[in-house]
Amino acid sequence: MDPRACRYCNSSFLPNKYAPRQTVCSNLECQKKRQLESMRQWREKNPSYFKYDESKGIQWLEIQRRRSREWRQRNPDKVRAYRQTHEDEYRRYMREYMQRYRQKQKTQPPASGETGTDVKTPD
Ligand SMILES: [Zn+2]
Repeated sequence: MDPRACRYCNSSFLPNKYAPRQTVCSNLECQKKRQLESMRQWREKNPSYFKYDESKGIQWLEIQRRRSREWRQRNPDKVRAYRQTHEDEYRRYMREYMQRYRQKQKTQPPASGETGTDVKTPD
């Protein structure tokens, strides 16, 4: 991979081999500019996405953000409870997923049938 000039600051850099189309150096300022630009481009491609918010104005958006932030600050218990229930859901899902996975591994000779529930954890 040959070095190339950064689109923003013009200094030469080596593009990441996993991102060969990279045109911006790793400089923090340049990365910020790139993010802003890609955000703007995305908005141009998806003009209807922000229509609702824009019709209410940026102030409305700010108020909504502040409200939800204040709500979270006032209700730390609810936030924690919400996180916990979802964490439990996730853990249960993963446990069931692993059980199914192990069952599949165990029943390799398909003729042997169901062998009960003695699920051993491979450590
Ligand atoms: Zn740069």
